[in-house]
Amino acid sequence: LAKGLESLRDQPCETTCGHRLNLWVNTGLMADVMRSLDRGAEGVGLYRTEVPFLLRDRFPGEEEQTRIYRQQLEAFAPRPVTMRTLDVGGDKALPYFPIEEANPFLGWRGLRVTLDHPEIFLVQVRAMLKASEDLDNLRIMLPMVTNMAELEAANGLIMRAFNEVMEEGHRLVYPPVGVMIEVPAAVYQAREFAARADFLSVGSNDLTQYLLAVDRNNARVADLYQSLHPAVLRALMQVVEAAASEDCDVSICGEMAGDPGAAVLLMAMGYDILSMSATNLPKVKSVLRALSREQADTLLQDVLALTSASEVEALINERLTSLG
Ligand code: PEP
Ligand code: MG
Repeated sequence: LAKGLESLRDQPCETTCGHRLNLWVNTGLMADVMRSLDRGAEGVGLYRTEVPFLLRDRFPGEEEQTRIYRQQLEAFAPRPVTMRTLDVGGDKALPYFPIEEANPFLGWRGLRVTLDHPEIFLVQVRAMLKASEDLDNLRIMLPMVTNMAELEAANGLIMRAFNEVMEEGHRLVYPPVGVMIEVPAAVYQAREFAARADFLSVGSNDLTQYLLAVDRNNARVADLYQSLHPAVLRALMQVVEAAASEDCDVSICGEMAGDPGAAVLLMAMGYDILSMSATNLPKVKSVLRALSREQADTLLQDVLALTSASEVEALINERLTSLG
């Protein structure tokens, strides 16, 4: 089986009727890069920059970051690499930057931290930009965006970093800047974000957690953590529709994109970039290549009439089984 999946690497992710989808990967370590290229990843939808930060005992400096980012960008060039700005807080704590709070997931995390510490943000963005010189495959993505002012502030800092680095003599193209949709508020303002950002990317791990008020790491409520909950599916539909109405690129980079059944629904909704862990890529590709867009659309229509995640899951399994 593993061998069969390997041979999929050079085949496009295309339905039986010729609808083409882009399968990208989520990375953090250099090890992910090799695995991703082996499996035919067409780009990186989420490079978690906090991973190299977590592996050190202090903040990596600008040169060190530039080196790390260059490796990622070079390995995938000319394919696009979406680098997320530092996303610490919540469940991700840097040992050398402790954050103690009663409600970390509702607290100081993601862009909230880096906008309060523009020096951290600027060094990181400068490093990303310098690393992208002559490759031009960088995309910058902002985590935990909750309001327009945060996007504007981040854009201002990115512009400043770009101008500085250009003045220092680097040859750069301005990277696309995207917003993660992972806070419910952003779903309801997806259209406004789509009008102001170059792309949207749904972080379904956090979006599920926040929509359902279920801690993504709490085993006691793990059964309630349902990415196929009808409310989550409606939110995902709303985002893709908002993006389409503003002609804005939209992707999804949460774990659910790597679940073959969920991937079928996401394709039917109109997501055309699914970013997942490299491990899941061949499985998702083989399922998407086995059905037509019409079959996926029918499944989505039927799923949208259901009222619980368990029913959704059962229906998906039934349809996928009947496909063989
Ligand atoms: C997400 O929230 O869905 C996501 C992709 O980011 P992370 O899992 O790193 O929070
Ligand atoms: Mg997240």
